Amino acid sequence: MPARTLPTDGSTQLSLVVPIYNEEEVIEALHSRIVQVLAPVVAKWNVVFVNDGSSDSSAGMIDAICNADKRFKALHFSRNFGHQAAVTAGMHVSDGAVVVVIDADLQDPPELILEMLEHWVDGSDVVYAQKKKRHGIGPVKRAAYYAYYRFLGRLTEVAVPPDTGDFCLMDRHIVDLLNAMPERNRYIRGLRAWLGFKQTAILFDRPGRYAGTTKYPLRKMVALAFDGILSLSKAPLKLAMFFGFFASAISFMLGLFFVVERLRGPGYLARGWASTIVVVLFLGGVQLICLGVIGEFIGRIYDEVKQRPLYVVSRSTGI
Ligand code: UDP
Ligand code: MG
Repeated sequence: MPARTLPTDGSTQLSLVVPIYNEEEVIEALHSRIVQVLAPVVAKWNVVFVNDGSSDSSAGMIDAICNADKRFKALHFSRNFGHQAAVTAGMHVSDGAVVVVIDADLQDPPELILEMLEHWVDGSDVVYAQKKKRHGIGPVKRAAYYAYYRFLGRLTEVAVPPDTGDFCLMDRHIVDLLNAMPERNRYIRGLRAWLGFKQTAILFDRPGRYAGTTKYPLRKMVALAFDGILSLSKAPLKLAMFFGFFASAISFMLGLFFVVERLRGPGYLARGWASTIVVVLFLGGVQLICLGVIGEFIGRIYDEVKQRPLYVVSRSTGI
């Protein structure tokens, strides 16, 4: 396959999509790192900042950058819609022949974009960054991440590469395909893997945040984890069947045991209180779990049926 080249007809060669939620401590550093990395290598590039309803001074800082440098543009959401919605919005308005999604906090080193670009030149449609090591998080969180991605890999039909985030470089046609996907509960790294094509990983040690604190509190992280599982797998629905079989097998054996016990003479069976309670509680619990799983899927179907927009833009700068 002949090497790919960036367009030279004056159209945008590379777009960067950066979701931003209360990142006032990092925006200046982010800005200069991006310029430092891209300016010497790519002739025509731009950056889409997506301000996901920040309540600090991020909005003003972003606008100041955009007004001073036309390569920078911004979308401002009407409220906080979440990281995945912000990335989606950025991809909708990006116009580069290749598009890079990157976190604002410099945990995704911009320098890696150049390495990603080399793989794209060699024919990769998606180049994603895979974390070898994570700095700046505790052992519990690290173990949870590790376990989650392995679990997700087993559950889903498409192989979502473990330990990847949204940091990646995509060819234009991949972005167009993602933009055409209608679903509301978006787990972008999963949708990206689902698409197929030639995908390449590059390994990196993920540094800690440049400054500030994580914008992913436990609640948001758990929600994203569920989105991952539920948007890529129907396995939880099969859980109900599994529990059903399991409970039937146990009750069948119990029945057999009671018959044998009865035949061997009276005495024991009167003491059935504990076993009855245990069985009732167990079955009640199983039924509630299954109802919860079904409810979760119905909730998602409801979200899709409503067809509400994924995000609302209150204003834009430079677009
Ligand atoms: N982010 C966002 N909306 C949110 C939460 C986070 O746009 O509701 C952005 C955030 O500004 C950052 C990226 O998503 O650019 C990743 O967030 P963060 O670095 O806090 O997550 P972590 O690296 O701790 O998992
Ligand atoms: Mg981060």
